[in-house]
Order: sequence, then structure tokens, then C-alpha cells
Amino acid sequence: MDTWKLERLQGAIREIPDFPKPGIRFKDLTPVLGHGELFRDAVQCFLEAAAPLQPEIVAGIDARGFLFGSIVAYELGVGFVPVRKKGKLPFRCRSASYQLEYGEATVEIHEDAFKPGQRVILIDDLLATGGTAAAAGRLITELGANLLEVQFLIELTQLGGATHLAGIPHRSFLQF
Ligand code: AMP
Repeated sequence: MDTWKLERLQGAIREIPDFPKPGIRFKDLTPVLGHGELFRDAVQCFLEAAAPLQPEIVAGIDARGFLFGSIVAYELGVGFVPVRKKGKLPFRCRSASYQLEYGEATVEIHEDAFKPGQRVILIDDLLATGGTAAAAGRLITELGANLLEVQFLIELTQLGGATHLAGIPHRSFLQF
């Protein structure tokens, strides 16, 4: 991806202070999603990184990971697996819980989502503390798949997500 395109993408991400609660600086992707070229550039970042890994499945994290992950799966001609928040998936699930600033959250994947050893990449929009992606990554591994890499459009570097993901290969395309 050309540097100027990455800079253009980074410049289009809107920061909303104190959303959804005080102290959070929310990275709003709607200006990217709503603009054809920018949306395509964002998807292209993932595609360029994902294609050489030759995944057999793309998994995406609820909900903005679906926006990018499903297109990447479509473009690569492979299946898509949703990692959902608790209570949304209809079939038997495997769950993983993780700590939030206050309380706990749980993500789930259908227990038959992967074949043994299947090559999987995991996609989400943003890496903050890394709790969500670490839990999703753990699930993918527990379900017998081969997690190749976790990919994020954005990384908030000061929140230490990379530490949380220690041991799991990961990359981000835009850092704040
Ligand atoms: P974490 O588990 O702390 O890495 O949080 C990552 C998840 O929360 C991702 O699915 C993001 O969509 C969302 N998220 C966390 N912090 C932000 C933020 N500042 N702006 C937008 N989304 C965020």
C-alpha cells in the first residue's frame, strides 16, 4: 500500500472524545466506510497482508471485524467465520471470557467452525488492550485450527495490546 494512501486513510479516521463513555477516544471509521476509495484502500491493506499467508478461513470479530473480514474472505475465495459476542450464535459454541476495564466480556465461535489444522487469519478493526483478540485467538486455537496471524486496521499503541497478544503473530496497518 502506498504511503500516501495510508496517510489519507489515517487522516480520515474521526476521533470522538468520551464515547461511549468518559475517557475513551473512539476511532470512528464511518468516514472511511462511507467513501468508496478509502473503504477499498482499507480492505486492500488486509488483502495484501492476508493473501501471501494463504488462509483457508478468515475469522472476523463482532462487529466491525465483519466489515473487513467478510470482504477479504470473499476476495480470497475462502470461508468466513464470525466471532460473536455472547448469546448471538445459534448452534453449540465454545466461549472465552476476558477482562474489561469494568467487568468481563465473552466471545463465542461455533464449535464446528474449523476443520483440524485449518489455516486461519483473524481480522478486527482495532487493537486497543488486546483482550478481545487474545480471547478470540485462544478460541480459534482451542477449536483445533492453525491461527496464522491477527490483523487490525488500527492499533492504539499506548494501550499495550501487543503485550496481550504476545506469542500470537499480529500486525496493524495504522498506528495512533
Ligand atoms: P480491546 O479488547 O481492548 O483490544 O478492544 C478492541 C475492541 O473494542 C475492538 O473490537 C474495537 O472495535 C473496540 N474498541 C476498543 N477501543 C476502541 C476505540 N478507542 N475506538 C473504537 N473502537 C474501539
